[in-house]
Amino acid sequence: MTDEGIKVTLKEIFKSTVPFKDSHEADSLFFNCCDFRFRKQSQEFLGDRLMDPFVFPGGIMLFVGGKHGHADLKDGTLYWTKAMVKLHHVKEIKLVIHKDCGAYKAAPALAGKSPEEMYNIQMRDIKEVKEMLSKEIPEVTVTAYYMDLARETGEVTYNEISFE
Ligand SMILES: [Zn+2]
Repeated sequence: MTDEGIKVTLKEIFKSTVPFKDSHEADSLFFNCCDFRFRKQSQEFLGDRLMDPFVFPGGIMLFVGGKHGHADLKDGTLYWTKAMVKLHHVKEIKLVIHKDCGAYKAAPALAGKSPEEMYNIQMRDIKEVKEMLSKEIPEVTVTAYYMDLARETGEVTYNEISFE
């Protein structure tokens, strides 16, 4: 069978002002939730760091979704995480969970959980993912964060989590 190709037309709709740089280096992989409420604040937190973002409902839900009744993407996510670490010489993986996460609230297996129960589930999840990644990819540092959202002031804080 021959590959006959596919006929397409390309119409340029955007041209960047930032020049293309032929580099394959990233400082970190960043797993965060896709919640729009803190997109800009997360960008502010990251600054100019070169990072590969995995922005997805629940962030670490990519690893733990299966046990909460969401799609089980753990093997595929671990596969690409390892690939990215190798290809981009990544030194750190940042994992973020946040208060009032819709991906947790919508998890079929977590229906009816109180905010306190949900907080504990999220903390156990991020600990589990941190330990799993540290074991699977020992050459990287894995850092866990809890993002707090203050409705009254609109402030978003990043809090590094230490496990005892
Ligand atoms: Zn969320």
